[in-house]
Amino acid sequence: MTSPRETVPLTDAGESLRVRDLPKVSLHDHLEGGLRESTILEVGQTLGLALPAGDVESLSDWFLGVAHSGSLVTFLESFWMSDAIMQTADVLSRVACEYVLDLAFDGVIYGEVRWAPENKLTKGLTLDEAVEAVQSGLETGQAMAAKRGHRIVVRQILTAMRNGTNSVEVARLAVRWRVRGVVGFDIAGPESGFPPSLHREAFDLLAGELFPVTVHAGEADGVDSIRSAIVDGRACRIGHGVRIAEDIKGTELGPVARWVRDRGLILETSPTSNLQTGAVTSAGGSLNDHPFDRLYRLGFAVTINTDNRLISQTTLSHEIALMCAAFGYGPADLERFQLNALSGAFVDAEERAELEADIRHGHAAGTWGTRRRPDRAAY
Ligand SMILES: [Zn+2]
Repeated sequence: MTSPRETVPLTDAGESLRVRDLPKVSLHDHLEGGLRESTILEVGQTLGLALPAGDVESLSDWFLGVAHSGSLVTFLESFWMSDAIMQTADVLSRVACEYVLDLAFDGVIYGEVRWAPENKLTKGLTLDEAVEAVQSGLETGQAMAAKRGHRIVVRQILTAMRNGTNSVEVARLAVRWRVRGVVGFDIAGPESGFPPSLHREAFDLLAGELFPVTVHAGEADGVDSIRSAIVDGRACRIGHGVRIAEDIKGTELGPVARWVRDRGLILETSPTSNLQTGAVTSAGGSLNDHPFDRLYRLGFAVTINTDNRLISQTTLSHEIALMCAAFGYGPADLERFQLNALSGAFVDAEERAELEADIRHGHAAGTWGTRRRPDRAAY
């Protein structure tokens, strides 16, 4: 069966195909926001959940309706199905394995998947058991992809809910698992009213452990939220960060924008999601109004991400193709976006050098379109 995610109308289907062939890095993608519809249906029906649709196509349509609500809070509410399902080790492992295979199919060679362990404990799992289950699924998925000729590495970022109270516990959990697959910490959830400063204790702990942090900021709140992500969170990357544009007048950068650009902080921009959650509404609300291109031309380290592939019915290749259509990007731009992402990836220098060689080779003139990915059925 063909996934609806592959049949999303594109402005140039041929171009999209070639984007899928390019080696890519995925920095900002939620495990809960990327389940296969078939998995939600199968597990959800077994659990007797009142699902909003009974088949893959109707469920995809339902998500599209939610995604176009224009509100981050409504958008986040659609996570309830994922959280209801992801409560046992078996399902967590399955979802993580499928995650790796779906990214491998899309041409991703390195990914960091974020998810919130604290929302997965209603059936008795401990935080450590939940992380173990996800890690086991990621490792199985990577081994399966390798057998099919695709080398992909996916590691975990543990997310604490910014409207919750246990960020310190999640921070400790992340540090505990740094020896096996956990490379970063994040806070997510309603941004407005829940600034990173509320979680200062967790961030202090992480800073003391020299543990990498990314923070959702500048999505549903403005420049002060980004400042708090930097000052209180000591964020190495900013989740979305699109509202940094509010600190720029013409080509004149305010202090927060200057810090983000001049220090090379990675902006984990997610074009479709940013439109759907209203993050770029003040800029005009269409993809052409997205500040991505302006930020890129001003020298910000922009990257392209998916955020929630299921809810937004997208893939990383699709997001890249959309930006190419909106702003006329070519191979050199696409290579830059991937090298930006790699520069912010929570990897060591040796691994970064290897991945950089793969990205440069894959984007080199003349190799476009020559590295055909296997058919969907192989995944
Ligand atoms: Zn996100």
